[in-house]
Amino acid sequence: MKNYQFDTLQIHAGQSPDSATKATGVPLYLSNAFTFEDADQAKRIFALEEGGYFYSRLSNPTVDVLQKRMAALDGGAGAVAFASGTAAIMGLIMTLCEAGDEIVAANNLYGGTIGSLSGMMTGMGYTTHFVNPRDLEKLENAINEKTKMIFVESVGNPNGDMLDFDAISKICKKHKVLFVVDNTTPTPYLFKPIEHGADIVVYSLTKYIAGHGHVMGGMIVDSGRFDFHNDRYPLMTQPDKAYHDIVYADLNEGALCTKMIAKTLRDLGSCLSPFNAYMTLIGLETLSLRMDKHVQNARAIAKFLNESQDVEWVSYAELEGHASHDLCKKYFPNGFGGLFSFGVKGGIEGGKSVINNIDLFTHVTNFADSKSLLTHPASTTHAQMSEEERLAGGVKQETIRISVGLENANDLIHDLSEAFKHI
Ligand code: PLP
Repeated sequence: MKNYQFDTLQIHAGQSPDSATKATGVPLYLSNAFTFEDADQAKRIFALEEGGYFYSRLSNPTVDVLQKRMAALDGGAGAVAFASGTAAIMGLIMTLCEAGDEIVAANNLYGGTIGSLSGMMTGMGYTTHFVNPRDLEKLENAINEKTKMIFVESVGNPNGDMLDFDAISKICKKHKVLFVVDNTTPTPYLFKPIEHGADIVVYSLTKYIAGHGHVMGGMIVDSGRFDFHNDRYPLMTQPDKAYHDIVYADLNEGALCTKMIAKTLRDLGSCLSPFNAYMTLIGLETLSLRMDKHVQNARAIAKFLNESQDVEWVSYAELEGHASHDLCKKYFPNGFGGLFSFGVKGGIEGGKSVINNIDLFTHVTNFADSKSLLTHPASTTHAQMSEEERLAGGVKQETIRISVGLENANDLIHDLSEAFKHI
């Protein structure tokens, strides 16, 4: 499948005709258990000597198609699915870190991820240093011998800030530390982190990948390029007694995925449900078509907002003058996507009156739906941060986050114009 284009892979990768029924669609296997050929085969599967399905907490045929499809779309060696994007992030960290270890994370991550990395993770003995990812010197200086990964988002939420991925990758390679990129917002259609040096890519499938707002899911895609034979990663180089002293690092490009399935999913239980994998696969078939339309609609709305008398500022990286404009041109030649932010005149009260008077847009804390959505981050997604942390992450009191959906752009512009009359 490797030579096919994205549009083909999103429909076919990872699937072979169902041997029992020859069904064209990916069958939904809700079964939680799968039988063995005989006792010896069961023993081999349990010893990781042979692949195979036996219990859906670790592996399931429907989930497996989605894992293979995501790996193919991202150019990865393998992928492991989780119950949500947050479960994927926590699962990845718990696969690689033990108490006393450190993570260097961008300070403009999704508020929920900042919460996970600074809340429960701290309780478990991990420390996260949040730094401005555009300050490369600070980023590099935050790395020490305990650092297990640099964690960034490819597109900062809600302002659409971007990073110099090639430069960060260079720093990671120099220190032999993992470069992890949460690529939820652009999806692999608009940006492929592995092509710019990322070792591991993280997704909330909940967003554009599924695209219809009806599932929760997460995915870790591994490039398979990182060599874990490195003093930083004892959990990957020490023999694992649970599996006959296997050394995961010795599995080379299969090291991370094998450990995430055999240990992380086994012990945490945060597996993706087959039904959600099935729903995600249905959405994923049209990802490229949807992303092109999100991009087109977002461009029309950003232009309208930029020219509106009622709008104070628009943070959309395709606009000249945006701090990430040059990076956007370099890394996102096919368009920036559908998520950005703006501020209307009248500060927080102006923002509230827009939110309270929209009709076609929906006021929620989600993004990346087929429907267009508005969020007020300061009172919702970023509410649990201090004012200082919020401002450091680029969220002002009046910031309105817009997730442009797939409706007709003129209808969306009309809805905003009507709401602006109430400012
Ligand atoms: N990563 C990003 C960039 C997100 O925006 C979100 C959620 O909004 C997550 C991860 C967490 O994903 P989930 O809500 O599926 O747990």
